[in-house]
Amino acid sequence: MENRSLHILGSSAAVPTKDRWHTAQVLEMGQYKFLLDCGEGTQYQLIRYGVKYNKIQAIFISHLHGDHFLGIFGLLNSMSLGGRNKPLTVYGPEGLQALVENHLETTGSKPEYELNWVTLKDQPEMLIDEKDLEVWSHPVQHRVPCFAFKFIHGNKQRNLNVEACLEHEIPVDWYPKIKEGEDYVKGDVRIRNEELSYDPKPGVSYTFVTDTLYSEALIPFAYESTWMYHESTFLHEEVERAHATFHSTAQEAGMFGALAKVKHLILGHFSSRYLYLEDHKKEAEQFMKPVFLGLDGQKFNL
Ligand SMILES: [Zn+2]
Repeated sequence: MENRSLHILGSSAAVPTKDRWHTAQVLEMGQYKFLLDCGEGTQYQLIRYGVKYNKIQAIFISHLHGDHFLGIFGLLNSMSLGGRNKPLTVYGPEGLQALVENHLETTGSKPEYELNWVTLKDQPEMLIDEKDLEVWSHPVQHRVPCFAFKFIHGNKQRNLNVEACLEHEIPVDWYPKIKEGEDYVKGDVRIRNEELSYDPKPGVSYTFVTDTLYSEALIPFAYESTWMYHESTFLHEEVERAHATFHSTAQEAGMFGALAKVKHLILGHFSSRYLYLEDHKKEAEQFMKPVFLGLDGQKFNL
């Protein structure tokens, strides 16, 4: 089985608690290692939970509220001091690059490694397209521009139907094209790809939805995700407050998961007013199962 995991480093909303730090998650999918959001203190959490952070290839920042990105300043610096030489790409909203570059310039701490920036657009967009990975972003509704991300990992290539290829005497140098989904063409002869190959094995997908007003417009984006993280800042008794601050309740997270036919739901971004979180889980479970609390230190095998 492929190595795929999600390590939660922080599960708190805007105000942290003793046990719940600001949002950050490490997502590993095969050869890929990403950091999703980087709240204040993320580098301490990476150390606490034994994550080798110089292996992180890219950081995805959902939005420019402090509890989701203030940790990036310290982390970029520690990566440089730790001798990082591999390039790092940061995906984030408009304004992040300027903020960080201004800080690096002002403090004279330009990193030793190559730092690349991708500014997210106000529309669904494919950010990474590799043979075994796709990453997408999608705007959500928050008080400032904010984005959801979807990671789809698995072999996207079709599998050869060896018997059919031999029977039709397909030359070996055509096999890579057949795996890419092309028909075989020679003179007037065309053999349809479906006759020569099988569908690839379905991949595993993870959708990360943080700070957002409940919105069914995002359902097609999250549809049939193997795993989804959805913020649930409040319980539903606080729905008015949730909507006033452009956040979701645990009940809404569960409803969304059910409508989007998500297979596993992880809740997080809990307001510091809640000491006990089982009610969040119960609210979401009224609509779908299984539901997990994504607490600090928790690691999920995807
Ligand atoms: Zn926010």
